Amino acid sequence: MKNTIFLILALLFTLTSCKEKKQTETELASETYLEEPHSYAQSNDAVTTHLDLDINVDFDTQVISGTATYEIFNNDSNQIILDSKFLEIESVTANGVATTFKLGEMDATLGQPLTIAIKEDTQKIAVTYKTTAKTEALQWLTAQQTADKTNPFLFTQGQAILTRTWIPIQDSPQIRITYDATVKVPQELMAVMSAENPKEKSANGVYNFKMGYPIPAYLIALAIGDIEYKAISDRTGVYAEKSMLNKVHEEFSDMEKMVVAAEDLYGDYDWEQFDVIVLPPSFPFGGMENPRLTFATPTVIAGDKSLTSLVAHELAHSWSGNLVTNATWNDFWLNEGFTVYFEIRIMEALYGKDRANMLALIVDRILKMN
Ligand SMILES: [Zn+2]
Repeated sequence: MKNTIFLILALLFTLTSCKEKKQTETELASETYLEEPHSYAQSNDAVTTHLDLDINVDFDTQVISGTATYEIFNNDSNQIILDSKFLEIESVTANGVATTFKLGEMDATLGQPLTIAIKEDTQKIAVTYKTTAKTEALQWLTAQQTADKTNPFLFTQGQAILTRTWIPIQDSPQIRITYDATVKVPQELMAVMSAENPKEKSANGVYNFKMGYPIPAYLIALAIGDIEYKAISDRTGVYAEKSMLNKVHEEFSDMEKMVVAAEDLYGDYDWEQFDVIVLPPSFPFGGMENPRLTFATPTVIAGDKSLTSLVAHELAHSWSGNLVTNATWNDFWLNEGFTVYFEIRIMEALYGKDRANMLALIVDRILKMN
């Protein structure tokens, strides 16, 4: 993520929300996981390994509803705990049979633990739920708030602990899952995720996604709008609203060169595809490194490639952050510190030492300002 205000907020958040939580008794948890005060889901001996998400997105009511089905690693446990915040939980099954669940006390920062009863042989749980008006990760935009002004738009922002507000999930950066998703949207819109993505609209508004590499919950992302795709190379390209597409394509035309420069420094790009979606103007951050599909603000479309270090930054996260992740949000600096360094190295390789020095100076000023 690239945003200085976020860094201040992250620091405050870390200082104010690190409440002590009780370790459960499991050996596995204490050996495998570090204490993460920002999630209820750690310290279980039952851990999710794969998500199959099946949801419907209703723009009229601004509600996402559906079922999150998880494959779990179950070490003879009788419960599994997910994070949940501002979600309506309708029903839960374990191995396909209805089971009991309990939503714990609401914490203003963390939300509620969703404790689900399972048996020793439970390998699959399914939670049927819907989002509410308070859901923090979803940004619903009216047509007027978009660039083209003809259709609404929706995007998610999961980092740091907001994915739990649109999917009941083990929302800790050290718990990684693969995912598949089926997403139903209005026919005139296209859906894209941090996954293998469509390049054209589907005829019926149904989209299927696959993320085959295990990722932490905060990197699950969804954007829906009247968008189009334009390739830059066979593994890079851009999504944007129609009126923005050519400008965005021109601005980011060095993206393949950036990936090559990054590979020369850090080794192969493992996520296969690197695309950028430029969101409507209200996107609150500069960029978000959702794997395979960076989310970017249109404010970087300057017309002269002068602000493309944002793309270098989000690309750098493909290694530092997305492959190697801070285990707890108390160590967020690990994600961002290495990434800023790597961003500057990529810009140096592409545009020379002078530009890299200028970026380093700006970063240094921002750091001291904060
Ligand atoms: Zn970042």
